[in-house]
Amino acid sequence: MSRFFTSRFSSLEPYVPGEQPKNRDYIKLNTNENPYPPSAKAVALAREAAQSLELYSDPDCALLREKLAELYGVSPDEVIAGNGSDEILNFAFTAFCDENTPAVFADITYGFYPVFAEINRVPYRQIPLKDDFTLNPSDYYGAGGTVFIANPNAPTSLSLTMADIENIIKNNPGNIVVIDEAYADFGEFSCIPLIKKYDNLIVTRTFSKSRSMAGARLGFGIASKELIADMNTVRFSTNPYNVNSMTLAAGAGALADEEYTRENIEKVKETREFTASELRKLGFEMPDSKTNFLFLRHSGISGVDFYKKMKENGILIRHFSSGRIADYNRVTIGTRAQMEEFIAVAGRLTEGL
Ligand code: PMP
Repeated sequence: MSRFFTSRFSSLEPYVPGEQPKNRDYIKLNTNENPYPPSAKAVALAREAAQSLELYSDPDCALLREKLAELYGVSPDEVIAGNGSDEILNFAFTAFCDENTPAVFADITYGFYPVFAEINRVPYRQIPLKDDFTLNPSDYYGAGGTVFIANPNAPTSLSLTMADIENIIKNNPGNIVVIDEAYADFGEFSCIPLIKKYDNLIVTRTFSKSRSMAGARLGFGIASKELIADMNTVRFSTNPYNVNSMTLAAGAGALADEEYTRENIEKVKETREFTASELRKLGFEMPDSKTNFLFLRHSGISGVDFYKKMKENGILIRHFSSGRIADYNRVTIGTRAQMEEFIAVAGRLTEGL
């Protein structure tokens, strides 16, 4: 830290993204990326947009918002686009949390939430998940702050039901509930339709997972037009050109190719079920995933050893060393061939244990 760094952030611990190694060709199952390439339409439109990079991108993200609104049955003024859904989440922390309105979220969830709270200098309260990593909805009734719930949750891979979520929203009439649906396309439902019924709901979404566009950095939020306007106040006060023109074009291209997205989602889900069932035969335990990853442990090997040995074998997975989840690893679902390799190595590492 330099001597000039503001003392406000002297204890800020930044979010640590998963490794993006350049030195070796790993099977990369550590950052929940999609193993399939982005839509050819997305790539073609991004390339075309690159011809006009001398111009600023559209600060209204009008075309993309229009297409998203059409797809999700909302109106364009109920949609905001961002540089990844991380940015939308950060807008929500800035716009809807303060010293009297803490952020409230689970103890085991997306590791960025406490960082967003710190950088926005707002207090936060963490509510422990149950021992089996399920979330008890009533723990969030009358939360007294802005609630952030990743559904399905990361890294646990578990989903609440739509009724559970609706109960949490109903029981927080004076506060906002943010449902982070980064992985919802691999699950069974979306809360987006609930925004018509509840003015205290924000749903965040990403193109990083189901639409294979993690590198493009594109996310969006859906909520009442009043909440979207508040987040736009924050957006226009930080970076009105937050989504670059190649990414905006790529996003529109991906939305014109929804069948491709759906096919890839189905492939990932099928591979997930295959992988889970093979791993259970080897003695691994894991919750029933509704995402594009598995959260697993094996009683014969520690979480960190499994991670290290996988890495020695050319496979990168994600290990979180903290407390209750230190025995676990999070493993992204890759292609069938990648997962067959993962299963084979996992079998060798746990043989006889
Ligand atoms: N929410 C959750 C739960 C995530 O795991 C991620 C991916 N790291 C994000 C949000 C952010 O994704 P992105 O910024 O790529 O849209």
